This record gives sequence, structure tokens and C-alpha cells, in this order.
Amino acid sequence: MPCILVALTSVVSETPIMMKISAKIRLYVPDDLLPGGTITLSKDQSHYVIRVMRQGVGDPAFVFNGHEGEWLALIDEASKSACRLTLQEQTRPQPSESKLWLVFAPIKKTRLDFLVEKAVELGASRLIPVLTERTDVGRVNVERLSATAMEAAEQCERLSIPGVDAPVDLKKMLAEWPADCQLFVMDETGLGVPVSQAFAKSSTDSGRPVAIFVGPEGGFSPTELDALRDLPFVTPVSLGPRVLRAETAALAALSCWQAFSGDGCEGRLR
Ligand code: SAH
Repeated sequence: MPCILVALTSVVSETPIMMKISAKIRLYVPDDLLPGGTITLSKDQSHYVIRVMRQGVGDPAFVFNGHEGEWLALIDEASKSACRLTLQEQTRPQPSESKLWLVFAPIKKTRLDFLVEKAVELGASRLIPVLTERTDVGRVNVERLSATAMEAAEQCERLSIPGVDAPVDLKKMLAEWPADCQLFVMDETGLGVPVSQAFAKSSTDSGRPVAIFVGPEGGFSPTELDALRDLPFVTPVSLGPRVLRAETAALAALSCWQAFSGDGCEGRLR
């Protein structure tokens, strides 16, 4: 549970008092964040805060909007349908994050939700569903996946929420791909560069994104793999001798990238 030392102005005196605040709640809000500002939570969030978490007037919560850091807020109206918070002060600045994109062929619902949740925890900054020849899931519920991404960000204390793109056809995606964005294609044939080598030299320090691409349950077709290997921005990568399920491959690749080139060596956020 996040715990932080803050100076609060008491109701009886104007002198700030130092208090150790530990809040049970972290919420994404779309509002601008500034001292003294008030925020009215959505109906679902209000229900969660008041009914599920049993918070009341005076209880603290942390809020973030994806670009202005994390703020401490206090509940000043414990309505079950429109709970209101007053912002106190910023408790963490907005960190800079790697532009680490995850491109994936959609898989079935439960495992796709799992993939999205874990990808957010592992620091993916954008999620791009792509339809390949052997993708056998036609419909992608972008709204549901975005909600899953938001909940995962709230839970893991991230201060940004990765966007989920509308699904795109593989050919179209490649035709529009930014040439300066390296695309690491997870290649289950064993012909890819070992992951430790592939990621050792990769970095997003220059501000350029990098992307990890995982195929569908049926794998990439040979034609797709040949076409991908020919592209100058593609590096085929092997994750070892076993055939991993798509979601395992995605999470293994993200973890490895963070360990070799990303924030895997840093401490916790606070
Ligand atoms: N049905 C395929 C496997 C597909 S696995 C077969 O039997 O060969 C789904 C995706 O996970 C693959 O397209 C690939 O992107 C990734 N993947 C699985 N195992 C991998 C490995 N050992 N190395 C790299 N990528 C892997």
C-alpha cells in the first residue's frame, strides 16, 4: 500500500501538519490536477471507493491523470454515485517512460485480458492488436481492453496508461510502420537472434520507440515470416527452444527487454 509523508493544512489551524498518509485507493481520473482542485468520480469509481472499499469523508486517495504525476486527495463528499475529492499536493512527479510498444495477434478473451494486464505491469506503453493470416479471433473489444489496462495501471502504481489501438491488418501496419522504430518479431522457428543478444543493444533513450511483436496461437505463416525478415527495421528474436503460448511469449519478451535495456534494474517507484 503506498505510504507517503505530506504536509496537510488542518481545519483548525492554518499551520501545515506533517502526516504519514497511506491510502488504500489509487485512481485514474481524466481531470487536470492542481492544489485545491476538486474531482467528482465516475459512478463506477464512486461505488468502488464508498461501497467496496468502505471509505468515507476525510479518507485519502491517490489520483493520477497520465501526465501530471500522482496526487494525494481527500474525500470530502462520500456520495455512492458521485464521490468528490479535494486535491492536496503532488506526491510523485510524472516519470519519463520508455516507449515500448507491444504488437500482438489477438487471442481468446480470458488470455487476452491476462496478456493486457501483465503487459501494463511490465511497462508496455502502447498496445497494438494486429490481424495476421492465422489470427482466429475476429473481434477485439478495445473498450474492454482499455478498461483492463486502466485497472492494471492503478494497481501497479504506474502513472500512465497505455493506449489500446483499434485492430489493424498486418500488411497495413507494416506499410505505415515508422522506419525509425525497431520491430522485434518473436520468431518461434529457432532462426531468430537469441533474445539476450537482440535486446542487449536496444534502447529507447533517443526517444524512439521500440516494439515487440508476438504472433497468434497458430504462429506466423512462412510467407509472413519471410516478409517480416526482409524489412530493414525488423529483428527476428528467439526466446529459446520451447514453443511458448502467445501470451507467455509476449510477457517473456517484455520482461527480457526491461531486464536488458529498460527499467528492470531500477528500484520501486517510491
Ligand atoms: N503454433 C505455433 C506456435 C505459435 S506460438 C507452432 O506450433 O509452431 C505463438 C507466438 O508466440 C509465435 O508466433 C511467436 O511470436 C511466439 N513464440 C512462441 N514461442 C517462441 C519462441 N521460442 N521464440 C520466439 N517466439 C516464440
